[in-house]
Amino acid sequence: MARYTDPVCRICRREGLKLFLKGSRCYTKKCAFERRATPPGMNTQRRRKVSEFGLQLREKQKVRKSYSVMEKQFRNYFEKAAKHKGMTGENLLRMLEMRLDNVVYRMGFARSRAEARQLVSHGHFTVNGRPTNIPSFGTKVGDRIEVRESRRAREHFKTVGETIKAAQIPSWVSTDPAKLSGTVLAEPAREQMPLEFNEQLVVEFYSR
Ligand code: SF4
Repeated sequence: MARYTDPVCRICRREGLKLFLKGSRCYTKKCAFERRATPPGMNTQRRRKVSEFGLQLREKQKVRKSYSVMEKQFRNYFEKAAKHKGMTGENLLRMLEMRLDNVVYRMGFARSRAEARQLVSHGHFTVNGRPTNIPSFGTKVGDRIEVRESRRAREHFKTVGETIKAAQIPSWVSTDPAKLSGTVLAEPAREQMPLEFNEQLVVEFYSR
């Protein structure tokens, strides 16, 4: 399974926005973006006029990297989104939000999507009672996500109640910290998905 392995804080600096890719560190003074909000590289002072294509590309990269999806898979999501009814950009964001790793993150079982992805790929969760270790698994409304019985004694899950308390859990999922489980209650509406993304620019990028 291919994944991005370079320093993730560079992504925030490149995109000019905090993308919260590192969990609790993102909320501290150690955040690289807080310390230096300029793009990575040597010529950070250079001012360039960004073309329309540049804007579309940056937006696409921002969305793609926020969900840690590789280019090919991201394009596949776009093609599927274009075939669905409704707005392609919104469909695309919804498919990304419904990925199992993102749902685990939204339920508060992890402090970042990267951590959620690792927990899922290590096989700590079941979906409707079935062990599932595929981060890109597409969840559906009504799916019940649960920490496997055999994994509950792990250090991470002993203290996960604190993480859940600190998380801002959206209303389209519910979490039961006592049972270490959660349910997908609905598909997220546009206003329940990240508002900092301009999905129309992503659509324009792939429609060139
Ligand atoms: Fe981005 Fe988090 Fe790194 Fe800050 S600490 S630059 S928010 S990944």
